[in-house]
Amino acid sequence: MSVQNESRFIEKRFTPLITSLKSVGEQYLLIGTHSINVTQSRISSILDSGASCVVIHSGKNSDLKQLSQRFYGNNDVVLLDREFQLSDLTTLGRVAVGKIVDRVFVNLDSKQSLLIRDIFEQCQKLRIPINTHQRPEYSTFSICSTYNDPGQSGLQIAITTNGQGCLLANRIKREIVSRLPQNISKVVSNMGHLRERIIYEDHNQIIHSHFLNKDLQDLGFGIDEDVWESHKLNKLVYEFNVSEKQLKMKRSRWLSQIMEYYPLQSLAELSVDQLADQYHKISQEDNSKENASKKQRNTPDKKASNVNDADVQVSTTASSILDVPKKGSISLVGSGPGSVSMLTIGALHEIKTADLILADKLVPEKVLQLIPQGTETFIARKFPGNAERAQEELLEKGFDGLQKGLKVVRLKQGDPYIFGRGGEEFLFFQDKGYTPLVLPGLSSALAATVVSNIPATQRDVADQVLICTGTGRKGALPNIPEYVETRTTVFLMSLHRAQVLIDALLEKGWDENVPAAIVERASCPDQRITRTLLKNIPQTVEEIGSRPPGLLVVGNAINVLTDPELLKYDSSNTYHIEEGYEHVGFEDNVQKLLNI
Ligand code: SAH
Repeated sequence: MSVQNESRFIEKRFTPLITSLKSVGEQYLLIGTHSINVTQSRISSILDSGASCVVIHSGKNSDLKQLSQRFYGNNDVVLLDREFQLSDLTTLGRVAVGKIVDRVFVNLDSKQSLLIRDIFEQCQKLRIPINTHQRPEYSTFSICSTYNDPGQSGLQIAITTNGQGCLLANRIKREIVSRLPQNISKVVSNMGHLRERIIYEDHNQIIHSHFLNKDLQDLGFGIDEDVWESHKLNKLVYEFNVSEKQLKMKRSRWLSQIMEYYPLQSLAELSVDQLADQYHKISQEDNSKENASKKQRNTPDKKASNVNDADVQVSTTASSILDVPKKGSISLVGSGPGSVSMLTIGALHEIKTADLILADKLVPEKVLQLIPQGTETFIARKFPGNAERAQEELLEKGFDGLQKGLKVVRLKQGDPYIFGRGGEEFLFFQDKGYTPLVLPGLSSALAATVVSNIPATQRDVADQVLICTGTGRKGALPNIPEYVETRTTVFLMSLHRAQVLIDALLEKGWDENVPAAIVERASCPDQRITRTLLKNIPQTVEEIGSRPPGLLVVGNAINVLTDPELLKYDSSNTYHIEEGYEHVGFEDNVQKLLNI
């Protein structure tokens, strides 16, 4: 590489590949102890990772004493009080790799520049990864600021600013860690435990699932319109008379859905039974165990106790409410696409005054946090293969609550009447004598375009908007709309079957070069907008994976407010991604206003 190329390399700021290294049994060499605190912390993390190390001391005698005292009796640390020699690189390592050390950490006085350079060059020749403290130009890897879960769940968080300030990286790490739910250790251990069990038990079924799905899809077996998204593991599981083998397979899909949608803190309590297909039994057991679980679940931690179970959270006040004879009431309330700033004041009122909340699994986590402690809350178990039953379950719970005189709030994602089965639910409750109050919500279909800086209508570009679905009844393709050049079309529930949908659109005469955007988790902090052309959508989805929920927008209005420079596609650059929801500061302030 020429010098010129090298400087371009630095300018371009390539992002280093962050990895998590398995170090057990490796032998590392620490050259110099110039900054004794750095040396001590390096040794500790090396020992924690299961490697051992040789330290060549080069500082004051008091430092050597300090190190000897701190690591006294530890056979995995060898302290050598002598000058470093280049031959150490090839003699102090493990026998298994010809005594070449596995990794080198240099911590020398910057005055020893020549030596530092020699070590670096020699390590490069020998292909030994090297880190030189505060000298990125003499390092082939750098150390991240890390958080290791003290609960030993295995969770680690690593932050790097790539040489722009380790203090800053530490600060960012603290900010992130302080935002994790208190029970994060339990969340990680529990999910790991469930995953392991499922993989172990259902291994063969998962392997065969791809073929099964495909066969069933060809046969047109139904999936519910609310069940879609993630194009890999979350794929389709079908609801009909399935064998024991197929039921087992469902669990892994359910688990991946739960991990994706449920409030993080609620994952700590999830059990394998809740992943099985036994909800009839479970709900009966739930009722009989209600009193016992009430006591257990109401912990002093507000966040954890709000929705701390994948199943039912039982109110402490439920029984006293039962004593008051009053007629139950029901409202169907839209909760918006994700951000609490997009919740209506009417919806907030309903959430705060409900006795029983029945929420869709897509209802945003921050909205769930607004639910007062002690309000009974049930999150729908609408997972692949269980959509119909989950819907019935919700309606039954709602009707049950109404008969007990409760104020039932059916919290629905986005707008209740846009692909949310709101109409069906309205009729169900009306039939039973309880006419719902229906409160509109901001639909993702219209919010997603705004947060993506797409004016859905724009003079001379787009004069109409169409909201439709990519998944029709029972998983079939919906009616494909005709192509209108001046229309912005939003396809909900479409990304898991991008290829089939785009094929159908092109066949119907859609322009393959019309702009298209994938908008995922609109208005959430991890929002992602991917702009491309219609013809590139399937390949793009394949490459970027999915971050549900997401939708597809197609039309010429997509790029009118976007810098055309960003959208110069060629064969190696077929899409453009924007990460994050810009108004995070605003979002924090709104959350503070609402005390969440
Ligand atoms: N009633 C809802 C839509 C329910 S159908 C509404 O009005 O928004 C579920 C589909 O909505 C998902 O498949 C996805 O296509 C879309 N969706 C919901 N929330 C979204 C979000 N925050 N970002 C992008 N798409 C979203």
